[in-house]
Amino acid sequence: MACPLCGHVLPKDAEACDRCDWVRAADTDTAEGKASDLVAVMLSVVPGLGHVYKGYKLLGLLFVIGAFGAILLGGLAATATAGFGLALIPIYWFGVMFHVYGIEDRIAPATKDDEGEEY
Ligand SMILES: [Zn+2]
Repeated sequence: MACPLCGHVLPKDAEACDRCDWVRAADTDTAEGKASDLVAVMLSVVPGLGHVYKGYKLLGLLFVIGAFGAILLGGLAATATAGFGLALIPIYWFGVMFHVYGIEDRIAPATKDDEGEEY
């Protein structure tokens, strides 16, 4: 394989490059998440805002509409289930936050393929 940073030829399963400071991005890299993920999750206090932040404008709008739906549905369910239906609302919030954390950030798109075309 070739080093993605400097192009130096490395052993096939190399963990790091000996010519530059490239290190193989392990799975822990994506599991930890980026700062933008945390910001998006915090913005999801208003469901959909985190998605807009990440560049998913239409999806964010749908989640905002969905939030009203969840409140409405939770309210309706609450009257039928003696308040228990209200649990639907935080579950929706949590679902939105969980989703926005997991999706790819569209603000800084991976331009690995474009880099060569710029020059
Ligand atoms: Zn290298």
